[in-house]
Amino acid sequence: MFWQQEMETLDRPALDALQLKRLRETVRRLERVPFYRGKFLETGLKPEEINSAADLRRLPFTTAADLRENYPDGLLAVSRDEVLRLHTSSGTTGKPKALFFSRRDVDTAAELIARAFCMTGVTRRDVFQNMMTYGLFTGGLVMHYGAEKVGCMVIPAGPGTSERQLLLMQDFGTTVIHITPSYAFYFADFLEKKGIDPRRDLALRKAFVGAEPYTEETKRKIEAALGIDVYNSYGLTEMNGPGVAFDCEGKCGMHVWEDNFVLEIVNPATGAPVGDGEPGELVLTSINREAMPLLRYRTRDLTSIIPGPCACGRTHRRIHRITGRSDDMLIVRGVNIFPQQIERVLMSIPQVGRNYLILLEGLDEMTVKVELSPSGFDGQVGHLTELQNEVVEKLRAELSVRPKVELVASGSLPVTEGKAKRVIDKRSL
Ligand SMILES: [Zn+2]
Repeated sequence: MFWQQEMETLDRPALDALQLKRLRETVRRLERVPFYRGKFLETGLKPEEINSAADLRRLPFTTAADLRENYPDGLLAVSRDEVLRLHTSSGTTGKPKALFFSRRDVDTAAELIARAFCMTGVTRRDVFQNMMTYGLFTGGLVMHYGAEKVGCMVIPAGPGTSERQLLLMQDFGTTVIHITPSYAFYFADFLEKKGIDPRRDLALRKAFVGAEPYTEETKRKIEAALGIDVYNSYGLTEMNGPGVAFDCEGKCGMHVWEDNFVLEIVNPATGAPVGDGEPGELVLTSINREAMPLLRYRTRDLTSIIPGPCACGRTHRRIHRITGRSDDMLIVRGVNIFPQQIERVLMSIPQVGRNYLILLEGLDEMTVKVELSPSGFDGQVGHLTELQNEVVEKLRAELSVRPKVELVASGSLPVTEGKAKRVIDKRSL
């Protein structure tokens, strides 16, 4: 099913031409923004000189630091009167990143979500429970507006209070939820403890899972635990929030809406483009925003383009799930390690539970604490030692570093109803 079939299936030459037109309009718009005007002067670039997608590379990158330095409204490209909404993204340190929406931007963001809903088979007959944080975070309102555009009944539940979430699901027949992977696990455990079988007792059939990177193995565990289809959702506040890219019904990679975003994958160290299909950092240019378009924004998210057409008929290219953030990379004994690699190994071992913690301390000692699954311990200590050795060996093979592994009882690690904190770094290096 399509929301905007013509645009979603536009042939490549037409899509390229539309991108070029919108890119030039965006550059012209950004000449009003002192930050970008300065950058254009530095490079000597004029909007009329942008004649192809390759000319995009002559434009400067924009970074998270640029957003913070221009906080609160240094990157605003319209007058304050034209701004309809503000969202922010809280960083781990310092000032948040602010993103402004004009009336048209609010509407466009909702359209892109509506495309995603239709693409995964959601219709106006569905009941959508949004279990993401409302407020300044885009995962609440942006998704909410998109669901309303489709005509779903929307339940703006927000995260947490699992008792209330369950009550809403039971009383109003929720069929689709939007949730973080860590809360999905927490909620699945909650249902299990309550003796609720979601297949039998609830009407749930789909979940949109995003806001944190997660692995294919995690997706399968959520699908099995809740008895639903999980669709991967990708977005970031700086580009609208959710809905930048989304799984189609084939669940074979996320389509990036290329009429709204120009997509590049670069080497994170050098900024140079990588070949099609090669992994690197995702760089996005918003070409259909009014209030605050950004040129070549360094997302820090690591992914790759999936070459070739998609069976669903959409022509907008697909990216793989995010495999990590270049900022999240840990260096342990000189080896580059992403928390996602550890998660992938843990989720592939059935006796291991869903919650884990990576602890770095002393002189580069890595300990992975991982919960046993509720049925993972049969009371025989010998089996526990075998399992521990298996986890150590599989992690060593994946990471090329041998971590310590501590198996802990199911439910003994801190749980979270928001974004999970997986790494604690107390090294004295
Ligand atoms: Zn597709």
